[in-house]
Amino acid sequence: MATITTVAPPSADALLGLYKRAPIELVRGEGVELFDADGRAYLDFASGIAVNALGYADDGLREAMHAAVDGLIHVSNLFRTAPGEQLASRLVELSFADKVFFCNSGAEANEGAFKFARKWARSTVGAAKTDIVALRGSFHGRLFASLAATDRPAYRAPFRPLAGGVSIVERDIEDLAIVLDAETVAAVILEPVQGEGGVRVLDHGFIRELRALTRERKVALIFDEIQCGMGRTGTLFAYEQIGVEPDMLTLAKPIAGGLPMGAVLLNGQIASTMKAGEHGTTFGGGPFVASVALHVLERIADPAFLAHVKSTGKLIGEGIRDIGERTGKVRAIRGTGFIWGLDVGEAAGDVVARAREAGLLLLTAGDYTLRILPPLVASREDIARGLAILEQVI
Ligand SMILES: *Cc1c(COP(=O)(O)O)cnc(C)c1O
Repeated sequence: MATITTVAPPSADALLGLYKRAPIELVRGEGVELFDADGRAYLDFASGIAVNALGYADDGLREAMHAAVDGLIHVSNLFRTAPGEQLASRLVELSFADKVFFCNSGAEANEGAFKFARKWARSTVGAAKTDIVALRGSFHGRLFASLAATDRPAYRAPFRPLAGGVSIVERDIEDLAIVLDAETVAAVILEPVQGEGGVRVLDHGFIRELRALTRERKVALIFDEIQCGMGRTGTLFAYEQIGVEPDMLTLAKPIAGGLPMGAVLLNGQIASTMKAGEHGTTFGGGPFVASVALHVLERIADPAFLAHVKSTGKLIGEGIRDIGERTGKVRAIRGTGFIWGLDVGEAAGDVVARAREAGLLLLTAGDYTLRILPPLVASREDIARGLAILEQVI
């Protein structure tokens, strides 16, 4: 067996400096805790940004990965492999969708959905129907079209020109009605719970009105559930609680237990307009990631698992409200299930740093908003312990 020689102690010097990394080196995880190189434990309320739904060193996930590694890793989409077919079938059974396309990240899933929307609109309505509309506060990824659909000036400005034909509109049904009147719009994309934009649970009445409007104007409605889907709101998909179905839905973050994977779920009408060769990706839906994702999906889709997320999520909301009342330091609270945002009266990054020093990992969502995304397996006791640290550092 080949041995790998470590040539130097780890250093970030050779990495492109795109991330403000916390000054700890994580080496191990167990349940909902991570451990650094000095052996210090951190309770994780970040989940690797909504990825690690099953926490760390999960037995089932480890077994699924071991089984997957003994099978094929990759053969390309030029051949049939069972895990991707099985995963797609399960996603279809469990959702509104008729077809599934696999890729490797969230941004890629959204870019794919935009292409599918354009193809459908062009072939069913006309060549002028190409525009993509996203909402104020959105985050849909960092590639050229997904970035154009992302409402963050600092992410966008250095890279102009972004993809054309993509615009951002207020979260207002009358504004949207005016934009859709132009009959050039192929799709509207929204996050049922806006994540990076500050944890905003979009009003269900607004989404239902938008569903009616998009149907009337023959515009595809895409739900980006990359952060809020796969159980995080207490149902497998966030849309189940809204009472309407999208035409397409994108998934990524937690879907393959920490391995990179994205997916676009499509209804039959849109799917039927895509022909062989019109889109693709080398790695998407390969047997290794797909078999791991199949395990993750079965675990999360279990009604008992989702009931745990729902009831424990209520406790998170109540706990945060109590912290707000006791400390007077919380200006607003938004969220549902295992995704919560708290507006604080100081730089959220400072609170995140103090929490980390006190053994709790948190996220921000904007300059003054803390974001909480615990692994979905966190118990009531884990939540209580994390909230106690949060109260102390707030
Ligand atoms: C993270 C995220 C994305 C982008 O996913 P990547 O895998 O980082 O490309 C898109 N949409 C939402 C809602 C996200 O939270």
